[in-house]
Amino acid sequence: MAKGDKTCSFCGRKEDEANILIAGLHGHICNVCVEQAHDILVQEGATGSGDVDLDEFELKKPKQIKSFLDQYVIGQDQAKKILSVAVYNHYKRLLQKDAGDDVEIEKSNVLLVGETGTGKTLLAKTIARDLNVPFTIVDATVLTEAGYVGEDVESILTRLLQSADYDVAKAERGIVFIDEIDKVARKGDNPSITRDVSGEGVQQAMLKILEGTVVNVPPQGGRKHPDQKYIQVDTKNILFIAGGAFAGIEKDIAKRLNTNAIGFRAEDAQRWDEKGLLQYINAQDLRSFGLIPELLGRLPLVTHLEPLDAKTLRSILTEPKNAITKQFIKLFEMDQIELAIEGEVLDFIVEKTLELGLGARGLRSLTEKLFTEIMYDVEDLPETFTLDINKAKEILSNSKLTAIKNAS
Ligand code: ADP
Repeated sequence: MAKGDKTCSFCGRKEDEANILIAGLHGHICNVCVEQAHDILVQEGATGSGDVDLDEFELKKPKQIKSFLDQYVIGQDQAKKILSVAVYNHYKRLLQKDAGDDVEIEKSNVLLVGETGTGKTLLAKTIARDLNVPFTIVDATVLTEAGYVGEDVESILTRLLQSADYDVAKAERGIVFIDEIDKVARKGDNPSITRDVSGEGVQQAMLKILEGTVVNVPPQGGRKHPDQKYIQVDTKNILFIAGGAFAGIEKDIAKRLNTNAIGFRAEDAQRWDEKGLLQYINAQDLRSFGLIPELLGRLPLVTHLEPLDAKTLRSILTEPKNAITKQFIKLFEMDQIELAIEGEVLDFIVEKTLELGLGARGLRSLTEKLFTEIMYDVEDLPETFTLDINKAKEILSNSKLTAIKNAS
């Protein structure tokens, strides 16, 4: 038989349409059929592999998940609670054996709303670490609907596959964090007449993936093309966590609260404002902001993150398990230098961070700037070195801060 003439005896795929065609005594079988047959065996319990994997999967209770998060993420209690329960239910759903009834537990993808640098990505990343599942972060702004310049939505799954070392079963229960989802909001005030390809098109393209479908994923990413071999990934059990700053959404929230509240008074607005309007956010506000209802339906859990105040920023500097100051203390230890940092220096970093307005991300930039300068002279440092406020002020002069701000 000439090359290219062979076909899969099960599905009829030609040799050049399949990744691999395995020869048997009486015919051939392609990789797609092998995988499908394997899935059937797993579902029927005829092979241990799928079950063994899941049995190894330790399902923690929401409180346990939250206390793990507490070790790495400061504050954000409400978001932590909602995420812990969502994740718990998500994996419970995944572990459930078919009960034979019609109760199907639906997916509970989550939407995190909060200013930049408040811990949205960190929360998603930490959960994945706790559960030991593959994790990837994608930026919604680079995605486009098929046919436009940019990345196809399927590339989300390429990255997840890569972080699972191409173990499809593992990827299929991973977590994807979709960042900057607010940037694909439909623009324009009148949603019914404004069709905006870059935003709404991407939202449309995401729908199926978020809900659960089998997607042909290009293993190396990039654009799809007809000759490419694909890996099939089922997104049914992948947990999607979307995040965005939704700058200005308070206006939508205020408007809704205003129209809903009977006997609304100016003092009420004031009161709401003081406590932060974001805590009242719901799907209706997100819709007014420009997310399409179908997408919101697939992100049923919405929660918010608080802006970080000085006290929280101060804790972030020193308390998390891998707090940035702990990291530098360790780096200096490797040079046999005992590093101490004056409390005043920490307060100064916090103060400057608040001025930068980059959330906790500013802490990292400033602390790194500070210690890079000091580390440069490492061989001249005494065995015990205390970073004092004068030195810190000298390094973080205003001109340097402007440079940091512009670079971020
Ligand atoms: P976002 O996704 O909300 O823009 P990130 O989660 O990427 O922000 O946060 C940026 C960095 O700031 C993180 O790597 C982390 O070091 C720090 N950070 C932000 N929020 C917190 C928090 N609540 N607790 C501890 N660290 C935080």
